[in-house]
Amino acid sequence: MNAGYGMRTITRYHRPTTLDEALDLMARDGVNSVVVAGGTVVNSSPQPPDTEVIDLQAICSRAIERDNGRLAIGAMTRLQGLVESPAVPSLLRELAYREGPNTLRNAATIGGTVATGDPDSELLAGLLVYEAQVRIEHPGGPSTLPVVDLLADPRVLAGGIIGSISVATGGATASARTGRTPADVSIVAAIGRAASDGVLLALTGVAATPILATRETIASLDPSGDFRGSAEYRIDLAGTLADRVFGQLGGVQ
Ligand SMILES: Cc1cc2nc3c(=O)[nH]c(=O)nc-3n(C[C@H](O)[C@H](O)[C@H](O)COP(=O)(O)OP(=O)(O)OC[C@H]3O[C@@H](n4cnc5c(N)ncnc54)[C@H](O)[C@@H]3O)c2cc1C
Repeated sequence: MNAGYGMRTITRYHRPTTLDEALDLMARDGVNSVVVAGGTVVNSSPQPPDTEVIDLQAICSRAIERDNGRLAIGAMTRLQGLVESPAVPSLLRELAYREGPNTLRNAATIGGTVATGDPDSELLAGLLVYEAQVRIEHPGGPSTLPVVDLLADPRVLAGGIIGSISVATGGATASARTGRTPADVSIVAAIGRAASDGVLLALTGVAATPILATRETIASLDPSGDFRGSAEYRIDLAGTLADRVFGQLGGVQ
């Protein structure tokens, strides 16, 4: 193996069986630790020297349950579990399917997806329009906050573990995307849902994470360009794809 690859720097593996045990392991002074769920990001990213991994698979739920008119999804639910669950809104199932090949979907989890905040994640854009709420377990007790707030300030997750994500249900949905090929990760995608007080629109590929936007805010976005598309092209795409989404939703604003 090459020096510098992530797994070379991992010195201990913990598999706690209770939440308190996991939180205690994370809170140790002077110890570098990282929680691991599906491992698709942790195992492929360089970690600081002497990192200890804390595996969540024995403590985080993978249940999908109705809860007060919403759907609560355990953080350890694999993306393939979303795809296969008839309880999950069909748009979210499709977006989970689009996140990657089955090898990735059978490992990657919804908790890891939220914690990673990948700017190109259509599933995260879907969670934004489904008004997702994230339950975070902290040493001092749990807190729940909208996923939009977590994406805006990931520091709220420091020292905590995502336990579950709850989503609204119902509402017509639409999506539009452009990638280099139909199977490729989108350069920009627009995801819409008709919620009780109007259409919620989320965009990928135009900011550091997927974001909620309106037609009016698109022009003031400041995306980074890359080999797949310049900043100007991305703003142009966002406007065009948003128009298509609003068009599919019958002009509801
Ligand atoms: C080849 C490849 C292709 C990919 N393609 C895409 C793509 O198209 N779109 C996309 O969005 N992503 C993509 N990813 C990124 C990644 O697969 C997703 O973000 C994935 O869902 C991460 O989930 P995981 O369970 O594997 O996370 P892990 O690798 O286990 O963890 C990722 C991060 O989240 C933290 N974490 C995990 N679970 C929790 C929790 N419950 N509470 C607190 N923190 C937690 C970890 O500490 C770590 O920082 C790709 C990755 C690879 C390797």
